[in-house]
Amino acid sequence: MELSKHVVISGVILCETGLRIGGSKDDIEIGGMDNPIIRNPVTGLPYIPGSSLKGRMRSLLELKHSERTKQSGDPCTCGNCLVCKVFGTHKARESKLGPTRIIVRDAFLTAESVAELKAANQEKGMFYAEVKYENLVNRKTGAAHPRPTERVPAGAKFDFEIVLRIFKEDDEQEILNFVKEGLGMVQMEYLGSSGSRGYGKVRFIHTTIDGNEFDL
Ligand SMILES: [Zn+2]
Repeated sequence: MELSKHVVISGVILCETGLRIGGSKDDIEIGGMDNPIIRNPVTGLPYIPGSSLKGRMRSLLELKHSERTKQSGDPCTCGNCLVCKVFGTHKARESKLGPTRIIVRDAFLTAESVAELKAANQEKGMFYAEVKYENLVNRKTGAAHPRPTERVPAGAKFDFEIVLRIFKEDDEQEILNFVKEGLGMVQMEYLGSSGSRGYGKVRFIHTTIDGNEFDL
């Protein structure tokens, strides 16, 4: 297989509602938060792991395009379809399709968002995030048990970058269209968790392919 080029898709992920990508409780020192978001361990700033965006794109594309997923509900491991080609096979069947074509980088807060969130949170004693209380209601008694849940507030922006490896025998346009379709599906649905409760509505803005603007 001969690598012929790389194609770079970049832009900004705008959170239109609060975004929650869960982190580990062990990573935070301040007590009390049962449901922390994931943060960069060095800066403490929230970020969107590349694996979260990649995973959402993949699972949505599988639901639409993978015969195996449609039948079993499991992630596709067929090793033949475009999902497996672009996103990689879960098992050691990569030889036929070659290496995974997509590289999704971690997305970090834009400088503008860092400044805005810092100012907004300072007086409330929060750290680049909001705390939302979700009620778990006991179905018998009707008693509500509020649970504090951390999320990145609506309006936050993250710079994202996706690199595509195009091999000589690849249909570049087919791969590009597939990735664009995946981004469009994430935009239609959600990123992170609790999407059915309104979390994680995102829009991809200022999108470019190799520096040329495009619309999803
Ligand atoms: Zn497959």
